[in-house]
Amino acid sequence: MLASIGFKEFWKGVALPALVAVQFLALLVGGVMVFSTARSDKLAGQRQERLLALAIQQSIAEIQNNQEASTYWDDAVLRLRESPLDMEWLDNNMGVWFHEYYLHDEVYLLDPRNQPIYAMRDGERVSPQMYGAVSGDILPMVGELRRHLQHGFAPRSEGTGQTVSVAANSLLRGRPATISIKPVIPESAEIAQPAGSEYLHISVRFMDGSWAQAQSRDLSIEDLRFSTVPGDGLAHKLENSAGETIGYFNWVPFRPGAQVREMLAPVLIGVLLLVGAVLVFLLLRLARNRLELELSARRMHYLAYHDPLTGLPNRTQFDERFRDALATSANLPVALILLDLDRFKNVNDTLGHLAGDGLIREFGARLTGLLRGNDLVARLGGDEFAVVLHNTTNEQAVTICERLQERVRLPFQVVGGEAYVGVSAGIALSSPVMADAAELTRRADIALYRAKADGKATHRIFHGEMDDAVRQRREIEVCLRQALANRDGLYLLYQPELCGLTGSILGVEALLRWAHPFLGNVSTEVLIDVAEETGLITELGEWVLEEACRQSLNWPDLFVAVNLSPVQFHALSMADRICQIVARTGANPAKVQLEVTERLLLANTDGLRATLKQLQDAGFSIVLDDFGTGYSSLSYLQLYPFDKIKIDKSFVQSIGQADDASSIVIAMLSLAAALKLVVTAEGVETEAQRQFLKAAGCAEMQGYLFYSPLTANRLDEVLATQQAGKLSPIMRRA
Ligand code: C2E
Ligand code: CA
Ligand code: CA
Repeated sequence: MLASIGFKEFWKGVALPALVAVQFLALLVGGVMVFSTARSDKLAGQRQERLLALAIQQSIAEIQNNQEASTYWDDAVLRLRESPLDMEWLDNNMGVWFHEYYLHDEVYLLDPRNQPIYAMRDGERVSPQMYGAVSGDILPMVGELRRHLQHGFAPRSEGTGQTVSVAANSLLRGRPATISIKPVIPESAEIAQPAGSEYLHISVRFMDGSWAQAQSRDLSIEDLRFSTVPGDGLAHKLENSAGETIGYFNWVPFRPGAQVREMLAPVLIGVLLLVGAVLVFLLLRLARNRLELELSARRMHYLAYHDPLTGLPNRTQFDERFRDALATSANLPVALILLDLDRFKNVNDTLGHLAGDGLIREFGARLTGLLRGNDLVARLGGDEFAVVLHNTTNEQAVTICERLQERVRLPFQVVGGEAYVGVSAGIALSSPVMADAAELTRRADIALYRAKADGKATHRIFHGEMDDAVRQRREIEVCLRQALANRDGLYLLYQPELCGLTGSILGVEALLRWAHPFLGNVSTEVLIDVAEETGLITELGEWVLEEACRQSLNWPDLFVAVNLSPVQFHALSMADRICQIVARTGANPAKVQLEVTERLLLANTDGLRATLKQLQDAGFSIVLDDFGTGYSSLSYLQLYPFDKIKIDKSFVQSIGQADDASSIVIAMLSLAAALKLVVTAEGVETEAQRQFLKAAGCAEMQGYLFYSPLTANRLDEVLATQQAGKLSPIMRRA
């Protein structure tokens, strides 16, 4: 198919014109050759004819010349007037001698009355009566000459210097002949020659016999023959004095062009065949190159527009087709669904990239299987996919997402085992007033982000409020970067943790605060959220740790607790870094507590256990914060090396309320006791809560009932007062 398309274009565009050009060239060369050789043949023929015509003329002149010597002669005049005639003298001077010396075939002498007095044929004197056989043919010429003589023509012409004569070609007894007649006249004035009294000398030279052979030889004219009709080859027309055609000289024409043609034709044909063969070879090569070029162009085009792993359209193709879909939607709603796999990174990390690739491929197939032919599915990169539905509704988009989530729940068979992932989806629908690809993508992205934030494996449809939240977070992110760079506006508060029995301050928890000139006091939870999302948490967390440790040197008897985000654990050799930072400040790890949440423990790996163990071995206490809010808090307690748990404030605050969780708190306390873990109850706000916890044997308490988070200065004051024993720690609120 590919080849045939390419070939057709190639044949029409290149091969055919080239072949036609060569054919044209061949015709041109052949034509020029035929034309020029034919022309040279024609010229050669013309030249032969001209030479022959000249030879005929010369022959006449020669005969006339021959006659001149014997007819313009006093002796001859006198001899002819003798009676009887001296025949022997006539043979030797005017008859036989003409044959022997000049090769004339016949000679006749006529007296002034035109009566023959002498005849010679082929070198023999014959009876003058033989003239009768030719007299009919010659008589007109004789008459003409007599007329010239009678009308007083000058006996010698001025131009030629010769005596007057009549000469012509004519048929004589059926043979072509040159006939010349001259009067016999005296050269000297002493001898009188009255007009009309002249004797005539007739010479005949036949042109078909030896004469033709001689011309053939001298002029290189092949096979020169006389005929009454023109032959196949070249012919020269012979006319008599009256202008009547008497016959033709035919000969085999000299054709130099034909010879050249015969010689060159095979060479030329050979050259043309060779050129043709070379051309065909080159064309074939060209065709092959073109084909390869075209195939590679198509391959490149395919690669440029497809994701090699799944064979699905890639982002480039998606962008183009999405824009097209919007442009041609005719105001019918188009839905964009952005999809992102949950926990895909885990699969890659634990089962390897081959497994990850297999999962992506399989996911692509499951997704494609859900959609109609004209829906657009694309892999945008990594574990991100996009779907475009034409003429659709939010409900249909949601249905697709639900079906997809159902399918994705089934395990994926990959290299190295089974993998489980979820998929989060963000949906944005175009409307007649909003059908911009970039804006729809942004909206779907925000909805996807929302779905992820709302616990993953779910879908969200974009709505306006999401936009505000996102814009706000974006603002926070930008400001946080600046704040981190300038160490500006960030500071720590310290919330005391007290002994449940005595109420004395045992330690403080460092809590991050951010006062921004424009944003105001940003909620710590939002701040931490944004920092985690943007990866800024590592830097931020390390700053908190360092700052807390440095300030804690002021309170050598207290422990300082620092909160660690699960995201911080992604950093390489995170335990080493914590040890280094703490060592740098000079703080004692035994006085530093590291608080982690159950969120961290969801990614249950050996690596995490080792990290926590390393930190514990370095002297730090590991605290499980917000205890009870996760799913399997109890199992975590056995899996990981904790020193302390903090019962979440939601349990504490329910004590004495409608949804009383006091029995749960008691269970937690006895569990911790069994596991020899210290327990802090956080969020203690009322005296009743404190009483209950104290009665239940809770070792440590923290909450607004005792202290809100305090500035370092305020904490110094509190500690100084406590030292002085002036004030009971209870009832202190910052
Ligand atoms: P958390 O670790 O559970 O911290 C205790 C939160 O409870 C603090 O909120 C504190 O002000 C508040 N609190 C203390 N006593 C009471 C009380 O009696 N009643 C009530 N309702 N609340 C009380 P804050 O400072 O807004 O911090 C919120 C969360 O932000 C913290 O929860 C912690 O998870 C996180 N966080 C704070 N600072 C840092 C930090 O430096 N690093 C990291 N990774 N997380 C931090
Ligand atoms: Ca905490
Ligand atoms: Ca807590």
